[in-house]
Amino acid sequence: MGGWTLGIESTAHTLSFGLVDSDGNPHPACSDTVRPDKGGIHPREAADHHKEVAHSLFTSLLETYQLSPTDIGAVSFSQGPGLGPCLRVGAAIARGISSRLSVPLIGVNHCVAHIEIGRQQCGCNDPVLLYVSGGNTQVIAHLDGKYRVLGETLDIGIGNMLDKFARVQGIPFPGGPVIEKLAAEWLALQDNPSLNGLELPFAVRGMDLAFSGVMTAAQRLIENGAELGAVCWSLQEHAFAACVEVAERALSHTGKKELLLGGGVACNSRLRTMCEQMAEERESTSHAPPRMYCIDNGTMIALLGRIELDNGRQTPYEESGVEQYLRTDQTQVTWAV
Ligand code: AMP
Ligand code: MG
Repeated sequence: MGGWTLGIESTAHTLSFGLVDSDGNPHPACSDTVRPDKGGIHPREAADHHKEVAHSLFTSLLETYQLSPTDIGAVSFSQGPGLGPCLRVGAAIARGISSRLSVPLIGVNHCVAHIEIGRQQCGCNDPVLLYVSGGNTQVIAHLDGKYRVLGETLDIGIGNMLDKFARVQGIPFPGGPVIEKLAAEWLALQDNPSLNGLELPFAVRGMDLAFSGVMTAAQRLIENGAELGAVCWSLQEHAFAACVEVAERALSHTGKKELLLGGGVACNSRLRTMCEQMAEERESTSHAPPRMYCIDNGTMIALLGRIELDNGRQTPYEESGVEQYLRTDQTQVTWAV
């Protein structure tokens, strides 16, 4: 039996198969994202999508790396958090491959996988993590064997907020990258860009965040005649500034010197720049993994699976049920941070 670890990601919109090799090196994943014709992500429809594409995705992964199934020595999957129907598809595929090949199965925490791929890719030691994705927005730091949540969204994830704002403007999922483009195009045309008349409520609530009010206020600006590009710019400035403020306080409270970005919204160049500026002012550093490892991907699941297996954990089939509401701080961190 081979020494590659397969990782299966299926928490929400994307089904993805990724690999780490026998030396523990991650390799780019084969992924497919559901793109609804209209509306947001429907859990059951996303799960149907994952079932439909699973076989061809897995086959193309093996072809890409010229592997046969027997090169796989362990199977890891996202056990939670996420959408129940989507999680169950990934878990079922993982159990099937594990039992067919008689190799260990390991269910991992999707949020912790975002952290570990970021640490591995950026060479961070003990960072504060700004985890900004579709469904999650958290500021996280390691303490005493757990990744602790120091602050998080009280309502919707920042990515969902961007996607929902975009959807009302007729922009299909995922809206975040289009908002980034429209904001940059509008900004390039301005001599003296100003937030005057484009003000939005601030999303910081103590160490937590809340984005639904920002989104409603941004829609109202459009209804009152503001340009879409201008509102996209303002929306990014306000929402990202709120995240950066909470991240800065977390650095200050913990005394840590590294900031690490993760999650799909961490693909955003403006957010990356704001984090770099803040870190520089604090004589700290800001890091972001390559974009293919910011969005949901099977490689990060394979990497965390490998780490956990190396630390002696496995998931028996009877404990391999999905955990929709699994939290970042429920996973025991048994490996070195
Ligand atoms: P995830 O849930 O981690 O896979 O991330 C998906 C989310 O990332 C979606 O809400 C996307 O709109 C968002 N996203 C992806 N790229 C960007 C970008 N360049 N700027 C802002 N948001 C983005
Ligand atoms: Mg994610």
